[in-house]
Amino acid sequence: MLTYRDEINHLWERRHVLRQWRRGELSRESVCDADFLLITASQYHGSSAGRDCPICGSEQLRTVEWIYGEKLGRLSGTARTKEEIAELLHRFPEITVHTVEVCPVCKWNFLLKARTAVAG
Ligand SMILES: [Zn+2]
Repeated sequence: MLTYRDEINHLWERRHVLRQWRRGELSRESVCDADFLLITASQYHGSSAGRDCPICGSEQLRTVEWIYGEKLGRLSGTARTKEEIAELLHRFPEITVHTVEVCPVCKWNFLLKARTAVAG
């Protein structure tokens, strides 16, 4: 089991960026810049976002969780499934988790939220 606390969500920023993109104030290249690592991580460690990509409409939109923490050592900055995060909480008291939305088709990506996972 894991629970989350200290959630900071960036949904307002996401709406703002998408509005700017629709108005033509941001180029598609500037909002669709996911690199190979992020796309691959979303496919192997992520899960379906359950909604369409806001840029290209693809149904392949995914979310992937990245973990961070000083005590995590070389595990910090890696993509993990929820099951792996729950497992890691047996070894670490808390883990910072960033949830990133990624479209493998057009390379749209956005940090949706940052929160702390704790065992419980
Ligand atoms: Zn897309």
